[in-house]
Amino acid sequence: MTRSANLGFPRIGLHRELKKALESYWKGDSDAAALHATAGALRARHWALQHEAGIDIIPSNDFSLYDHVLDTAVLVGAIPPRFAGIADPDQLYFAMARGTDAAPAMEMTKWFDTNYHFIVPELHAGQNFSLTPDKPLAHYREARALGLATRPVILGPVTFLSLAKAKDDGLDPLDLLDGLVPVYADLFARLAAEGAEWVQVDEPVLALDLSDGQKAAFETAYARLGKAGPKVLLTTYFGALRDNTGLTTALPVAGLHIDLVRAPEQLDAVLSALPADKILSVGVVDGRNIWRTDLDAALALVGRAWDSIGPDRLEIAPSCSLLHSPVDLDAETGLDAELKSWLAFARQKLDEVAALTLAMQQGRGAAKAAFEASAASIAAHKASARIHKPAVVARAAQSIALDRASPFATRRQRQRARFGLPAYPTTTIGSFPQTREVREARAAFRKGVLDQAGYDAFLEAETEKAVRIQEELGLDVLVHGEFERNDMVEYFGEQLDGFAFTRNGWVQSYGSRCVKPPVIYGDVSRPAPMTLRWSSFAASLTDRPMKGMLTGPVTILQWSFVRVDQPRSQTCRQIGLAIRDEVLDLEKAGIGIIQIDEPALREGLPLRQADWGAYLRWAVDCFRLAASGVADDTQIHTHMCYAEFNDIMPAIAEMDADVISIETSRSDMELLEAFSTFNYPNEIGPGVWDIHSPRVPGQADMEALMRKAAEGIPADHLWVNPDCGLKTRAWPEVKASLAHLVATARALRA
Ligand SMILES: [Zn+2]
Repeated sequence: MTRSANLGFPRIGLHRELKKALESYWKGDSDAAALHATAGALRARHWALQHEAGIDIIPSNDFSLYDHVLDTAVLVGAIPPRFAGIADPDQLYFAMARGTDAAPAMEMTKWFDTNYHFIVPELHAGQNFSLTPDKPLAHYREARALGLATRPVILGPVTFLSLAKAKDDGLDPLDLLDGLVPVYADLFARLAAEGAEWVQVDEPVLALDLSDGQKAAFETAYARLGKAGPKVLLTTYFGALRDNTGLTTALPVAGLHIDLVRAPEQLDAVLSALPADKILSVGVVDGRNIWRTDLDAALALVGRAWDSIGPDRLEIAPSCSLLHSPVDLDAETGLDAELKSWLAFARQKLDEVAALTLAMQQGRGAAKAAFEASAASIAAHKASARIHKPAVVARAAQSIALDRASPFATRRQRQRARFGLPAYPTTTIGSFPQTREVREARAAFRKGVLDQAGYDAFLEAETEKAVRIQEELGLDVLVHGEFERNDMVEYFGEQLDGFAFTRNGWVQSYGSRCVKPPVIYGDVSRPAPMTLRWSSFAASLTDRPMKGMLTGPVTILQWSFVRVDQPRSQTCRQIGLAIRDEVLDLEKAGIGIIQIDEPALREGLPLRQADWGAYLRWAVDCFRLAASGVADDTQIHTHMCYAEFNDIMPAIAEMDADVISIETSRSDMELLEAFSTFNYPNEIGPGVWDIHSPRVPGQADMEALMRKAAEGIPADHLWVNPDCGLKTRAWPEVKASLAHLVATARALRA
């Protein structure tokens, strides 16, 4: 009989319990036992909730204290040598994630094309792997003690190696496969001994362009792992298998999961290639967006699979882990009923999976209420007048010049004449510490405890404090500190038409960090200036250049839940026009340096190279639409972080920002090589301070990084800045680190 399955549940908790427990533990306010108790309670609650929703196959080991790729590195004993002396497992784990005074953290990067960040495994030539199976075994037992036989989730060996970084020249991580597979086989045997019937092995790289080495690695790994223990459900998501369909369906595993939300077109090819001994799990409920599923459309898709392979080999599931979805729509008491009726969060998605499964088992009538509610919601959504704004659509259809008035060389001269900055100018990326006081004031204001005048006075005082600190430190280009902003996307979305906000719609970004993506439900426009008030106020306090701070259209799009009734490019262009209006308002107010952050431009890149060109064309054009209206002597900055730039250098150059700041310190300036090899024409600020770690870098560290940068980039093109914004740091670290940063620039000038 067809069964319902889930592939992973959000870890963080409806009220971000995990975040609070982690941060309390890191501060030393609570011990490891308290942290593990909270984590255990979350797991138990989430298992119960999936069981109550009627999900037949419930995952375990999908939970993680920080990140599942880091968990996998620990599982297989890939501990970088610099952490080798740390005996306590919790301390070791968090040292790898966050660094210590003695050892910098491991690198972090985006999980495929999501806004979730994973810790990049580090591998050495001759790497030994050894199994530490405590976590998957313990979680399996924990669920069993609650009466649930779960399907453990393990990140597959080929994806693990493909995501890893070789720390020795000439090493291809895939060369280490032969040492890794026995460790997985050992794990699978132990899971089988515990009673696990199935194991979900995630191999999302199967939706990417694979090298011959990766293809061979799949064949080698699964020849052994397919019969090493429990039955293997090989799980793919985020895209179609395309040219990997034959490879994947031929692997000797018991089942396959495919994403039919991102790639419904792959169903027929997979069905015709699927051997008769394999089950198929069809992902028909979107694990990555918040729109309610059109159950009739999903049922039709599932029905095609049923017709081809019958009921007994079929599982119905979300498209991917629900990790990327908020927990529970029922907690949203602030959304209006109409909007709410269009949405589904993780809990509701489980209900959708269960309803679809019931309909397949017993006929649509058995899940009549769910199907009727879905159909009514889908019809009402399509017809709603809240979504369509003819004036916005008409403006977006107009043609607007995307080039700046003059080429960079000319603009540069005019900007130099206007600002007179020294060599190696110093700046920060925008935000300053969001201290407890800042968060409390915002919360008091939102609750109505603090009135507008009181809140404004508080923000003015904080902004002035930040300006004075920057002046005392001797920074060249100042920022206002963004104390009025909760989040770099939410702040803008709240002021734009076409956006809605949840109260509890948190999703994990990395570790304890969560974001609450806005919901773009309709046509986007800017009713009034968004940042002018605080940028102008800050500029009035100082003679030094004050940088205006904006989030770019691609990043706003990428970090929101986006409507699916029109192409993303169209929604992005509407946002680009709104940002363009803001840029021009800032310029008119005398703000001569304006930063338009696009940290998410790279992560929006399609997973398959064949699809890159089309995306980059519209993404770069939306940035240029936002930036191109200003005069030559207005300096446009952009900022990007946590991305490999090598593959999109031409697109970054086409954005034509006068200055780009990038995250480079964690990778020891390796990311900068792309800019140097490409002969990037404009100015660059390579980050010299890894702001995701509490470690205060010394001046010598920063100088060494800058000297390394100057080997590949002309010195008169270099800026000195941190990797990213400073909102998560505390003032003492910020002051100490920025003092080193300014001293670094002075030493370089000398
Ligand atoms: Zn950044």
